[in-house]
This record gives sequence, C-alpha cells and structure tokens, in this order.
Amino acid sequence: MAGEWAQVDYSIYHTKDQVFEEVEQLVAANPKIMRLDEVVAPEERTPSTPAYASPLKVVTVEPGGLSNNHNKKLRLLLNYGEHGRELITVEVALRLLASLADPGPALARSVQRGHSPHLLKHLLHSSVFKIVPMENEVGRAAVERGQLCERKNGRSVDTNRNWEVHWGFKEKDYDPKEEFPGTRPFSEPETAAMLRVAQHFKPHVWMNAHSGMEALFMPYDHMAHIPEGTAALATQDVLQQLNNISCGGRCAVGSGGKSVGYLAHGTATDYMYERLGVPLSFTWEIYGDTKAHFNDCFRMFNPVTQAQFDEVVGNWTDAVFAHRVWH
Ligand SMILES: [Zn+2]
Repeated sequence: MAGEWAQVDYSIYHTKDQVFEEVEQLVAANPKIMRLDEVVAPEERTPSTPAYASPLKVVTVEPGGLSNNHNKKLRLLLNYGEHGRELITVEVALRLLASLADPGPALARSVQRGHSPHLLKHLLHSSVFKIVPMENEVGRAAVERGQLCERKNGRSVDTNRNWEVHWGFKEKDYDPKEEFPGTRPFSEPETAAMLRVAQHFKPHVWMNAHSGMEALFMPYDHMAHIPEGTAALATQDVLQQLNNISCGGRCAVGSGGKSVGYLAHGTATDYMYERLGVPLSFTWEIYGDTKAHFNDCFRMFNPVTQAQFDEVVGNWTDAVFAHRVWH
C-alpha cells in the first residue's frame, strides 16, 4: 500500500534548502524593505535537557522602507510551516514574500475586488510584516527524509500545544504521537523564539497558517465558544470576507474549539489573543484532502497537482492583500 501514497513532487515544491535560498535572494535583492533575522531565545537548560536548537528565521518586510520605529505602523506577524508535513503553507510564505517585493499584481487583483488602489497603497506603506516562512525546520527536514506524516518539531513536541494558555490539558482522545505539548510551556526553542518576537513586535495581526482542512479559525481553540466583544466581532467579519476571497466560501469559519470538533490546548492563537492582546488573532487552514487515507499524509495536507498548487498558493497569498486584514 505504501507505494501508492503520494510523494513530494519536487518539480512543484521547493526543498527546505531551496526555500531559504530563495528567501535569502529576495531579501538581498530588496535591502531597502526587507531584512532577515535569526531569533534565538535564551534557554533554561538543566543537565538532563538534551541539546536541541532551531533558530527562528524571521523576515521583516516594511514596504515603506525599513525603519527602527514601528509604533505608528500596522504590525502583522505571519507564521508558516509550523507543522512539518504541511509543505504548502511554506510555499504560500515564499509567494507572499515575492509579492511584497513586487506588489503590483496582487494589488491589482485586490482593486478588481473593489478596493481603492490609493487606499491599498497607503495601507501597504503603513504596514510592517514579520514573516516566518518555516517555523519548524527540523520537522520539515524529517519530512524530506521520507517521514511524510511528521508534524512535530525535532524533539517530538507539537509547538502549537506548547503555549501557556490552558497548557498541558488533555482531552480524552489525546494522542501523544500527534500533539505532545512538551515538558512545560515554552520548553521548545521555536515557541520561545516566536514568543520573543511577538513580545517585542506587539502585532495587531497574528496569523498561523496550517493545512489539513479548509477553515478560518479565531479564538478560542481551548473552549467551544468565541470571545465576547468588538475585537471578536471584527475578527469574525474579516474571516467571513476571507472565506469568500480565498476559500471559495468553503471554509468553516468560527472558533477553533467549536468549528473543528476538537479542543486544542496551549495554542499560539489563544495565547496571542488572550495573553498578548493581539486584536486580530487567527489560524488559516488553507487546504485539505479530507478523503485521503490517514497514512497518505502528503496528499491529505498538500495539493498534488500543479493546478491545485497554483490555486491554493495564489488564493492564500492574496488573502494577505485583502485590505480588511490591514485595518
Ligand atoms: Zn498544522
């Protein structure tokens, strides 16, 4: 049977090394608006902690020109590739970086959807993006060695269960192979570095890209309801518009905990919303083949044809250019 499972087609997908080569080339070609940093959070190590490192590569994009003061700008923190097997999300990050370097075509598509070109340009120039193209580099390397179902990091931790909101709480169907939350909140270098970025950057928008289904999730992941108040209503409104723009109206929209049918504890989106007060916090689940066999992981989480690949990558790049996301 295993011979029938879909494999990664590297004539369509980038390898991990190619991803970072392309990122470095884009940043080098656009030094006035882009910068690449490696973020490492100081680690609390005990002698029994095995050595493990995974610096977080973060691309800062400031279309109005790189500056040191982001106080008056709209700040967006966008995360891709948190789960190794979800290769398609990393491809969206690459396309997004290319689109931010040359925003003409994406802006033109946004204008076609009825947005004012002047407003869009103004918004773009008043924004600063921090984009993590591949949070989970070690997990991704395992996928490229043939472990196509690998989702966790290099220490078998699901970093999207490693955040300090309702951390470690286990549902009846808890599966440590899929969602081991680590030994304590922020035990993982990927999570600790992301926290550091968020604490310094103070984003207005947090977006965590995943695949496996088509859905647009807002808080809460750990409870089966949405928060009260205007920020939650605004988030819901943005997600409904994105559903039409990028998801063909097929996406489930609502709180992760309610819409997905299972509760998730210790997620980044809940932490960003609840602890850091990020007003627009959401998870975009951008693609899924829910009919795929559960062992056919590449197919379940990623488009297998060039046409589907182009459609998903294009749609979810354009989602970032939907001007409602920028308000
Ligand atoms: Zn995921």
